[in-house]
Amino acid sequence: MPEHLSHVGAAGTVCYEGYFAGAIARLHAEQRYRVFADLERIAGRFPYAVLHAHEGPKEVIIWCSNDYLAMGQNPKVIDAMVATAKRLGTGAGGTRNISGTNHPLIELETELADLHGKEAALVFTSGYISNQTGISTLARLIPDCLILSDARNHNSMIEGIRQSGTEKVIFRHNDLVHLEELLRIAGRARPKLIVFESLYSMDGDIAPIHRICDLADAYGAMTYLDEVHAVGLYGPRGGGIAERDGAMHRIDVIEGTLAKAFGCLGGYIAGGAMLVDAVRSYAPGFIFTTALPPPICAAATVAIRHLKASQSERQRHQACVRRVKTELISARLPVMASDSHIVPVRVGDPAKCKAASDMLLAEYGIYIQPINYPTVAKGTERLRITPSPCHDDIMISQLVTALADVWDRLGLPYDKAARAAE
Ligand SMILES: *Cc1c(COP(=O)(O)O)cnc(C)c1O
Repeated sequence: MPEHLSHVGAAGTVCYEGYFAGAIARLHAEQRYRVFADLERIAGRFPYAVLHAHEGPKEVIIWCSNDYLAMGQNPKVIDAMVATAKRLGTGAGGTRNISGTNHPLIELETELADLHGKEAALVFTSGYISNQTGISTLARLIPDCLILSDARNHNSMIEGIRQSGTEKVIFRHNDLVHLEELLRIAGRARPKLIVFESLYSMDGDIAPIHRICDLADAYGAMTYLDEVHAVGLYGPRGGGIAERDGAMHRIDVIEGTLAKAFGCLGGYIAGGAMLVDAVRSYAPGFIFTTALPPPICAAATVAIRHLKASQSERQRHQACVRRVKTELISARLPVMASDSHIVPVRVGDPAKCKAASDMLLAEYGIYIQPINYPTVAKGTERLRITPSPCHDDIMISQLVTALADVWDRLGLPYDKAARAAE
């Protein structure tokens, strides 16, 4: 029976509500229906937040924020946002094609181009949009372009590739042998775009950027790198993993976000002046949507400038990461191998992953969102912990004690032997 016939309402008409109820029921059946915590972060007291729980408001500690360096509560960043709102108002007042560009957005793009050592940068309303419309526009401007995409690429890149309508091949995650095989099959003459991330945010592993660039050089491919989880966090000026590895100049397009380590909102690409001008002129996700509000632009600029000069946030962040990993490992909690600030702890079951998260929040005042399918593969469900410069030693030991308690109560597996932290 065709599916629409199973949703017959009064007088033989379609019962639309039934489709939505069915969709939600499927998620419940697979134990991956999502509930969002109702929170108010407390500026000046990160990682504390007020949780609006059934019983009423209570204070909790957030361990899963992507505001990795707590720049969202940095007084200079907040002041820039407030002062700019008072001077220029709240919104941008239109798309840049219709209403021009507010000056703070020009300053932001100049700052971003400088951050990545590129001729130009273009800001979008989110990192998601920058990937989606950036990749699809670039690929459409290159006739017969073949996109080579890492198997673990973020959904925003996958959507960009899909929207481009160009041919794509997927290489196994960070697998240089496979990538080279696909480049060889495509041949040197064909235009090719390699699309990948520097730091994969669910496992915390890092791409071999130089070696991917070596292959791009050998086979004449362009490179597009998503540095969303690395900008602000790595490199002497917060330019990301490519800056840390001395590879920024080898990448054609660097894409990043203003919403994670920079604590604001928005996304961007940085690259050659002609390439950026072409995207500006052809990308529907840029042309047909209102520009980022001036207060956000000004705040992001201050955050970027601050992290270009200051090492202390990055140092305290990495120190906290090392400490969290070491303590979890010595408690034999199953920390997954990670080369970065992402600390995933394996649960391997969607219902138990959610139960662990619920218990931590309700009984220990610790918020760690469960990460289930489709964000990660089934069977690899996990708690994804993101330490920050604001988590202190007491919070870390409370976290480890709470996790061990929850592990015991749910009968979750421990690692057999304590390992060394990477
Ligand atoms: C979060 C994320 C994005 C999207 O960035 P937003 O600014 O949040 O829209 C893009 N790529 C990756 C890898 C991400 O994790």
